[in-house]
Formats: sequence, structure tokens, C-alpha cells
Amino acid sequence: MCGIMGYIGEENATEIIISGLEALEYRGYDSAGIAVYSYEDIICKKCIGSPAELKEKTSELYSNIGIGHNRWATHGRADEINAHPHLSQNGIFAVVHNGIIENYEKLKTELMDKGYNFVSETDTEVIAHLIEENYKGDLKGAVSATLPLLEGSYALAILCKDYPDTIVCAKRSSPLFVGTDSNSAYIASDISALTQKSKRIFRLNDGEIGLLTKDSFKVYDTDGCRIKKSEIKIKNIENNINKDGYEHFMLKEIMEQPASIRKTLSEIFDGRKIRFKGLKWSANDIKQINNVHFVACGSAYHAGMVGAYVCTELFKRNSTAEIASEFRYSNPCIDKNTLIVIISQSGETADTLAALRIANEKNAKVISIVNVENSTISLESKNTIFTKAGPEIAVATTKAYSAQLAAIYSLVLYLAVISGELKKIEAVKYIDELKRIPEKIETILNQNIDYKTLSEKILNSEYICFIGRNYEYCTVMEASLKLKEISYIPCEAYAAGELKHGTISLIDKNSLVIALCCSDRLSSKTLSNVNETKARGAEVLTVVTKKISGDIIIPETIEIYYPLLEIIPLQLLAYNTALIKGCEIDKPKNLAKSVTVE
Ligand code: GLU
Repeated sequence: MCGIMGYIGEENATEIIISGLEALEYRGYDSAGIAVYSYEDIICKKCIGSPAELKEKTSELYSNIGIGHNRWATHGRADEINAHPHLSQNGIFAVVHNGIIENYEKLKTELMDKGYNFVSETDTEVIAHLIEENYKGDLKGAVSATLPLLEGSYALAILCKDYPDTIVCAKRSSPLFVGTDSNSAYIASDISALTQKSKRIFRLNDGEIGLLTKDSFKVYDTDGCRIKKSEIKIKNIENNINKDGYEHFMLKEIMEQPASIRKTLSEIFDGRKIRFKGLKWSANDIKQINNVHFVACGSAYHAGMVGAYVCTELFKRNSTAEIASEFRYSNPCIDKNTLIVIISQSGETADTLAALRIANEKNAKVISIVNVENSTISLESKNTIFTKAGPEIAVATTKAYSAQLAAIYSLVLYLAVISGELKKIEAVKYIDELKRIPEKIETILNQNIDYKTLSEKILNSEYICFIGRNYEYCTVMEASLKLKEISYIPCEAYAAGELKHGTISLIDKNSLVIALCCSDRLSSKTLSNVNETKARGAEVLTVVTKKISGDIIIPETIEIYYPLLEIIPLQLLAYNTALIKGCEIDKPKNLAKSVTVE
């Protein structure tokens, strides 16, 4: 979601900033803009759509210092006026901002009373005018006086006409990184935009103000005192962002799932031994856990739903999945005997981060499952499991989701064995089967399934409902989200048994019911629900194992692992449906890769 890129040095800032914004594009954006210092003035150029379009507008613009932004609109339409950077009224300051200023209306009224005119509908513009209002010739002083007035979240990069050799940056609850090299310095909201260019990388913390010149980076705390920053060590940054011959990143990432699950498991397992590096809980600590909450948003929440079922089944503790944006405002009853499992691909998800902070405050046992090293969630968690999905570019997650599931299964098996709830001999069965899952996924990926015909069924239906029970319910939640995200087809997911408590009223001959019926224990129950919908004229599409007849046949596994297998054909179904519809698969409208605002 949104992106900031800034540069100061000896090369052409415009080119560097635009290529940085292009690297951040995958996070989701709707407009882009850049401000550079040139010929003793701040020149600002903006466009709707891709930063590549900025190239044309800025081909003549040469400068050694500038800031740029990909906007994901929260306040005000996605148009050129609302795109960042925003200028102060006197044109001395240019500001780019990721996040939301929650008290912007009050600030705007106060500023308007003082004679400031607003040109945009954004919350961001108040920041530019406030800095002007607080400016008495001292740039750092003006920014320091402004930040305490802002409520909400921000990552900021600021340019000032009076300081042509300095970029100021600051943040609260939204990530911001600085990279330095000899005679050049960079700012970016995503570490991946810095790694190739910077020798040293620093993470700005909440409340800090950074002053960046081409050969210095000075950081001040909230009291204005200079502080020493230590650089962060970057390991394992992969920069493979090619489609490798696939038409879309999403398809490439679907195909990569066997490899990314294997990689995730290989970090955790040593033979049949489960190891979580750095996890310091004793067997007694684990035995004392009396309830477990998996807390996440979106697809990661669906992974958490699986976690809650499997944790209840194997670790034998009351376990729930919680939507982070709900959990954070629910006054949760948690204490040192509660285990909170935080799940986030990016490690920056705003609501999930807030939930983590609540769990930390309440002294709960916390472990986070994230895909991005050095992300805020991983840094603020005492324990982190890194999934090894590699960079995921398509906005709709596939390989990061399945890697989260692999990590969750491993964690629960670990808890169940250490606590004695699962006998070692029993665990072997689960561990061996978990390791066989990537091969079974390969079988599904290589199967000759006529997704085109199945997608036509979706496109010809007026109402689409996915159904399943228990683990298969979690999977239909994820499958229907995938279809919505990339094909924009309204559909829903239901616990199969719930259908007759209301929603069945929607079923008729124009409906399509997609049912997961692989579980030995529950497939006969789900099939009864399928029959109820057939009796009302619905067309049905089933995912089954070879034990029963159906439309998509997948390999058998232990019930808990069906989420890893059943989601594969449903990801491909969503992909093919979006392909037929001609949707922008990798960057669906309105969506962002990493949701850094609440
Ligand atoms: N709230 C700001 C706006 O709507 C910033 C959005 C963003 O993070 O891109 O302009």
C-alpha cells in the first residue's frame, strides 16, 4: 500500500526516484508524483496511474534531490490534485505521506481560519501547511513542532526550498527506511527499494526525525536530542522479481508453492525434529498455555482459522482465529498463559501490528509468522517464524498464504508434542505427511484440469457460494476471497451447515455452489448440503478425492492438511476466471499488497 522514495546525491534524482516508485508499484497505488529541487525552486509533477507515466512528464527534469510517492487514496479521489507531493501555501515545503491523519478535519479548520487555502481533499495537505505555520527559519524545528499535532499514522519525507541539500523524514506506525552510500542517500517505505543501492540501511523508529544530506544522516528523538542509529543487517533479500515466462506474477507464485513450502519446512525441521530458532519457551511454559488466538487480516486470517482448528485438535487448547481490526478494539482477556499467534505476510499490517502491541502490553506469549525479515512485526515480536515464500508480487496472496499454513502446522505440532498432548509416535505420522504435501501440490499443478470450462460456469452464474465444513470451511473462505479479489465477481463462503439457516433462500437454477468434500469425516455431511442446493436447481462444482466422484479430484491426505491441497485448484480457478474476464490480475483495483493503514 502506497510508497515513498527519496534521493539525494550526485546522480539524477528524478530517474532514481521514479525507478524506486516502479519497484514499489506492486504494493498497490492509484496515482504517483515527484517533487525535486531545481533552479532554486521546488518543481512538482503528478499523474494518475503508473509512475512510468511520470517519466514522460519529467524527462527534462534534472536534479540531485527529490521525493516521490505512490498514493493509495484514503482521503479524496484518486486524481492528480490529490496525488502527492503536497506543497505548503508558500511553496517552500513539499511533503509525501503514507498513512492517515485522523484529526485532519480539525487541523484543516484551524488552518483555514488562519488563512490557508486547501487545494486538495487529502488529509496530507494539512501537514504541509502546518510545517509552514511552524517554520521560523529552522526546518527541523518546524517539523518537530508539527509532529505532536498529528494524530494517526504517517511516514513522511519533506523537501524545503531553503534547505536544498536536505530531506527530512519522520514516522509513526508506518514503515520508513534510510539507505546510505558514499555521496548518496535514499529514503523508502519498503526496504526492498533500497537494498540494491545502499551500503548501509537504517530503520527509523516512531517519533524519530531524520535529517538526510548526501553524506550524512542525523537522527533526533522526540526531545530533539541527537541519537546514534545502528544499521540493520539485511540477510536473505531476494530480488528475483521476474515473471520467469509466466503471464502473471500470480500464476508464477501459484506454481512456486511446492518450493516455498519446502523451503519454509526446511528451515523448521531437522529430519523429524522441529526447531524454532530463538524460541525460549520451556516445556512448562508451553503446558501452561490455556488458550490460543491466531490474529491476522485477510488471507492470513484464513490461515489463522486453520490454525485454530488444528490447535484445538492437536494441542487441545481452546483456540480461536481473530480478525486483527476487531481484536484490537475488543478489550481481549489475555494474560501470560494466552498464546497469541500473529500472522502477516508483510510484517507491516497496521491492524495486526496494533494487535501485537496489545498482546505485548498484556504480557501474553507471542509468536509471529511473517514473510519479510526486518519488518516491524518481526522486530517487535519476541518470537518470529519467517516463512520462506520469497518476495510475493501479485497483490492477491497465494504462496505466502500456503507458506503461512506450513509454518502454522509446524508450530502446532511443536506445541502438541512438547506439551505431551500428541505422542511422538503419532506426531511422526503428521510430520511425514506434512513433508509429502509439496509433492501432492505438484500433482495438482500438473493435473490436466479444464479450468476454462469450470470458469465459464462461474461466469454464467448469478450467485456463487462456496461451502465446506471445519478445515474445508477455512479453505472456502480463502477461495471466495481469491475470486472476489482478482475477478471482481461477488461471491460468498459459507459453513456448509449454515446454508439452510438463511442463505439457501438465494439458491436457484442460476446459482453455482462450489463445495469441498475431501474430508473423510465430513464429506457425507457436506454432500447432503450439496444435494439440498441441487434440489433447488443449483449447478454444483465439487472438489473431492478419488473416493467419490466429483469435478476436481485431488490426492488424499490427513484431514488437517486438506487446506494446503484444496486451495490450489481454487486459486487456479480464480486466476482463470479473471483471465477470461480480462482483469488486471496482479494489481486488482482498490487493493494494496501491504495494508499499512487501519
Ligand atoms: N491519506 C493520504 C491520502 O489519501 C495518504 C494515502 C497513502 O498512504 O497513500 O492522500
